Amino acid sequence: MKAKPDNAAVKLVVVGSIGLDTVTTSATTRRNVLGGSVSYACAAASFFTRPGLVGVVGRDFPTRYRAALRSRRVDLRGLESAAGRTFRWSCAYEPNLKERETLSTALNVLADFAPELPTAYRHSPCLFLANIAPEVQLKVLSQMCALRFVAADTMDLWIRATRPALLKVIRQVDLFLINDAEARALTGEEHLVPAARHLLKLGPRYVIIKKGEHGSMLFSRQGVVLSPAYPVDLVRDPTGAGDAFAGALLGVLARAGSITSALVRRAMLYGAITASFTVEAFSLEKLLAIRRADIEARARQFRRMIRC
Ligand code: AMP
Repeated sequence: MKAKPDNAAVKLVVVGSIGLDTVTTSATTRRNVLGGSVSYACAAASFFTRPGLVGVVGRDFPTRYRAALRSRRVDLRGLESAAGRTFRWSCAYEPNLKERETLSTALNVLADFAPELPTAYRHSPCLFLANIAPEVQLKVLSQMCALRFVAADTMDLWIRATRPALLKVIRQVDLFLINDAEARALTGEEHLVPAARHLLKLGPRYVIIKKGEHGSMLFSRQGVVLSPAYPVDLVRDPTGAGDAFAGALLGVLARAGSITSALVRRAMLYGAITASFTVEAFSLEKLLAIRRADIEARARQFRRMIRC
């Protein structure tokens, strides 16, 4: 008999924030849309593997958002529903859509989140610690028993507020992802190459520095690999692009038997493509509307663009 999907083991576990975002651009404001690092990362990873989501929402979390994640075959056994309100975050972008200001953050149920992983998640070979408090990342890490590859992301808040715990996370991961401004803030280095060298010395085998529309850089003992961003015609909302990049990348890695530099490089291409769809619409709208074939079609175009 065919196993029901909800009995299946997952090959990638992702922990992070999930909540309701209110995003303002010069074109419009979208209120209480599905957001959070784990939502973007899982939706992006789901094109390549079946990710297991670890997160918490309040009783006010709309059922349609749960259904949307399920429609992308995201495993929700690790999604806790707690008494209280869902995490909320709001921001406003400059007209160039590069700089943004956080207007409000209400952690709500996220403030007391102490995840207990479902048994089926604990044997997953791959783990992505998406943006959330480093103490929560460490709690998840401590419950995994068969890990082959761990990646983590962070944000400026944790660099300022919980640096020792963040350094503890970085020491235990294979891949650390960070954006350019955060890499400078974390290491105190003005330039990205010394910043990446500094981060590699803290423990990870790979460091990826994300540079928004300028792509990303992979650093390892083998050297540096540059990966451009796919040039989209119209950016509507860049929120979650970094999470989608990382989610797709981890999704590709989770499917593979062994993880090599060449595979990480290939996975970065899929990360860039998936992120490019994310920014073309608000929230997860585009990620929920496309299929794997759309990603492959854009990947073929992209390969032609970067051939030199
Ligand atoms: P990004 O655009 O990649 O920085 O990701 C934006 C997402 O991060 C939004 O969907 C927010 O809900 C989420 N987010 C914002 N602040 C926090 C926070 N303090 N902890 C965890 N996630 C957050």
